[in-house]
Amino acid sequence: MLNVDTIKNGLVIDHIRAGSGHQIFSWLGLDKASFCVALILNVPSSKHGKKDIIKIDNIINVDYSVLGFIDPSITVNVIVEERVAKKINLTLPERVENVIKCKNPRCITSTEQYIPHVFRLVDKKRAEYHCEYCDELYRAGVGEVF
Ligand SMILES: [Zn+2]
Repeated sequence: MLNVDTIKNGLVIDHIRAGSGHQIFSWLGLDKASFCVALILNVPSSKHGKKDIIKIDNIINVDYSVLGFIDPSITVNVIVEERVAKKINLTLPERVENVIKCKNPRCITSTEQYIPHVFRLVDKKRAEYHCEYCDELYRAGVGEVF
């Protein structure tokens, strides 16, 4: 197992809802990574019962708003020179663009290819988003991204 102290410069994506680790791992393209990565599943957690953790021995670019949209309970530790340099607590973004597709067949985004798929957060507690064009409802955290 890859421990935090074996990471020199990299990211530890912690408190991933158990079961989402695989999806986030492949969304980040880590299945094709040439550097050291670890996906640890079903780690006992006092917060959620069980969680998944991803450790990456490389500082990669992550779109934190999309990651927060996938799972807002995640925290990301940025490791620099073997120390936690920064802790990022993710939240649901106010707006996502081209992350999910509107499913309404009559929506303008379904008929016009050039229009971006924009969803806005309307209810933070319920993680509900509305399509900007047709008000189609989408609930975040169900693990569906482009
Ligand atoms: Zn729509």
